[in-house]
Amino acid sequence: MAQDTGRSPLATAQAQLATAVEILGYEEGMHRMLATPRREMNVAVPLRRDSGEIELFQGYRVQHNISRGPGKGGLRYSASVDADEVRALAMWMTWKCAVVDVPYGGAKGGVTIDPKQYSTAELERVTRRFTSEIMPIIGPERDIMAPDIGTDEQTMAWVMDTYSVNLGYTIPAVTTGKPLQVGGSLGRATATSRGVVHSAQAALADAGVQLSEVTAAVQGFGKVGSHAARFLHEAGARVVAVSDELGGVHAPDGLDVNALLRHVAATGTVTGFADGDPIDNDALLALDVDVLVPAAVEGVLDEESAGRVKARWVVEGANGPTTTAGDRVLADRGVVVVPDILANAGGVVVSYFEWVQANQAYWWTEKEIAERLEHRMLTAYQAVAATARAEGITLRDAALTIGVRRVAEAHQIRGLYP
Ligand code: NAD
Repeated sequence: MAQDTGRSPLATAQAQLATAVEILGYEEGMHRMLATPRREMNVAVPLRRDSGEIELFQGYRVQHNISRGPGKGGLRYSASVDADEVRALAMWMTWKCAVVDVPYGGAKGGVTIDPKQYSTAELERVTRRFTSEIMPIIGPERDIMAPDIGTDEQTMAWVMDTYSVNLGYTIPAVTTGKPLQVGGSLGRATATSRGVVHSAQAALADAGVQLSEVTAAVQGFGKVGSHAARFLHEAGARVVAVSDELGGVHAPDGLDVNALLRHVAATGTVTGFADGDPIDNDALLALDVDVLVPAAVEGVLDEESAGRVKARWVVEGANGPTTTAGDRVLADRGVVVVPDILANAGGVVVSYFEWVQANQAYWWTEKEIAERLEHRMLTAYQAVAATARAEGITLRDAALTIGVRRVAEAHQIRGLYP
């Protein structure tokens, strides 16, 4: 088993890969191939602010692996983004795309900007400049972007437009998670959250439990967490607490999630919601609930906080919320962790559907998308759960083993050039 590696996402991702490589019995050369990004581009992104002042940001695009298809992965705007975080997120995308068997490799991008501090016009300029800088390595057959923390469907429309204008014609398939009016897909905005709930439902069913019988807490109330809370609530679960970066709200009898969504639409935060008591993020993770959904940032469940988790299931909406040491603590305590590369894969599944629709210029109905998403998520979950049972390993190690093996097989079959 890998060493305790602290909270660094890249250390966590590398330790997870090392465990999978050990289970699969691969040699050192294959391990290095899988551990090393194929291609990286670091760019300076200058911005002329509305005031006329010039600021400079760092931009990153990492294509961790492109053996099963084009790079695929989100674009993150956050002041704390760095090259290693983007490398970790790109690696997780590789295994995720392989686990749900979509024909992509894994990639990720980031810009060191806190979007809340900038105007819409400034964010548009940053997005267009970043896109222009990384033009040589992106494209519908090379590397396809999607929203992540701090970016949204408008960001994807600007990326698509910049790329298209530079090439002289409209190329919708260069991004996913776009607005419907410019080639987005029905169901994409809520797909990650729907997938979280499908995988939670499947994990609970393995223990003979239904969503309508459980209590849940959700950390993070953005694109993933807010809809996950809503779908859990709609499925009959009692959502007793949610949070965002400013704090959380707790109501032991259950939050009125729709009223909370209206509060957030009006104020921008879950804090200050009248029908609940304030709770901080640390306390939320330790609540006595059945299901805990971390849907914010990496590394929140470390050795110490994992030791305080009372939930029976942790369903990872976020990427990398659990460190290696945290994982060990949860496993020792019998907590079932539905891992990120499975639980939050619904987003990339519907991104794939969006890309297929854009390439064919033929649009599917919402019902078709919902049914195909559920089928993909449940098929992936069943394969992971069967491997976990057969090998006596955790769902995380089973998911990683399946993902890593599919990528390694692509390497082996393609051969090494020259
Ligand atoms: P988002 O920017 O829409 O929302 C992030 C939420 O987390 C916000 O509510 C924010 O206030 C909160 N937050 C930030 N820092 C926090 C902290 N330290 N403690 C508690 N809350 C905090 O981002 P998102 O798209 O919802 O992404 C959330 C997570 O899900 C990320 O790990 C992302 O990589 C992952 N993810 C997103 C998608 C997608 O389709 N958007 C798909 C797969 C995985």
